[in-house]
Amino acid sequence: METQIQPNVTPLPAPAEMMPAKELVAWALDQWHPRIAVCTSFQAEGMVILDLCWRYRKDIRVMTIDTGRLPAETYEMMDRVRDHYGIRPEVFFPHAESVETMVGESGMNLFYRSREERERCCHVRKVEPLTRMLQPLDAWMVGLRRGQSASRAGVCKLETDWQHGSMIKLSPLADWTHEQVWDYIRRNRVPYHPLYDQGYGSIGCAPCTRALRPGEHPRAGRWWWENGSARECGIHCLRKAD
Ligand code: SF4
Repeated sequence: METQIQPNVTPLPAPAEMMPAKELVAWALDQWHPRIAVCTSFQAEGMVILDLCWRYRKDIRVMTIDTGRLPAETYEMMDRVRDHYGIRPEVFFPHAESVETMVGESGMNLFYRSREERERCCHVRKVEPLTRMLQPLDAWMVGLRRGQSASRAGVCKLETDWQHGSMIKLSPLADWTHEQVWDYIRRNRVPYHPLYDQGYGSIGCAPCTRALRPGEHPRAGRWWWENGSARECGIHCLRKAD
């Protein structure tokens, strides 16, 4: 699909796909701040984006969702970000009434029962709060990489997010490798989520994430009981590569 950028936005100096992450981030912040945010669950890629943005300007907005089922270590990360960068992440929560209804009907751990129940939980705890979170923004930045999974192979560095009112969605690390991400983190002493040191390859809600076994794909620890490769929570409506 075509990417549509608002008419008052300065044209990109080069096609987005050709731009290094640092330059793309700077251009995007120039266009949209304060109506742009880094939206992250504090995984490695999100922390790289956050760090790149913060090095360009210190008053960036960082947004996250507290699903109510996060591991304790993710809350530690939120506070580490506050201390390290002097940023106050804007935290969004699911609607209490929706959670109460869902849990009342299907129990606390409905996600293990079927794919439909898991997607219902992700919708209530993640997708709906995300929609609310993005409403005041013109653009959002995320840490998606094409190499993360087959379902992310078509991610563009800059695209129109039709799912959220035609805003702009940026994935400046789309062409980065796993090694590049961790090289950046080490070289720049970026705080990283403590569960990586316990063998996790990707980190989401506590009951739906486990450490990796030797040789497993980095996302194998997410919703590991489900079959199929397209295991996503619905936050990123991913289209196939053109
Ligand atoms: S990852 Fe698991 S606990 Fe978190 S919202 Fe999705 S189904 Fe619910």
